[in-house]
Amino acid sequence: MLEEKLVQGNTYLIKYGSSSSISQVTVLLVTDKTYQFKYESGSTAWVEKREFERDYGIIENISDFMVKELQKNFDNTFTFATEYETCPICHGTGQVPNVQTTAAFVTCPLCQGNKRVVKRTEAKV
Ligand SMILES: [Zn+2]
Repeated sequence: MLEEKLVQGNTYLIKYGSSSSISQVTVLLVTDKTYQFKYESGSTAWVEKREFERDYGIIENISDFMVKELQKNFDNTFTFATEYETCPICHGTGQVPNVQTTAAFVTCPLCQGNKRVVKRTEAKV
């Protein structure tokens, strides 16, 4: 009777029978006759496929939504702060005197003409 088979690794909202409570389960494993579920609480359980088809209803596959939320949380968790300092080789001019050729100055080899270098980068939670 299932219109949509459960796919391993996907997360679903399911409902038991005619109860109004909704469970969030992630399908850890699909075998010939069973599904292994991981519930939102972190606990896991085996459910027979025929039992699932008889007793449970799939409300929605929320895998895509879960991935987006994870990405959002990750982006919100870390911000990277980069601190710069004046290039110690060219002292902020971006060029250094050149003694090998006839050109008076060449692009600074350390900062590549950016006049500053990264002092440190840190992730702020
Ligand atoms: Zn430099």
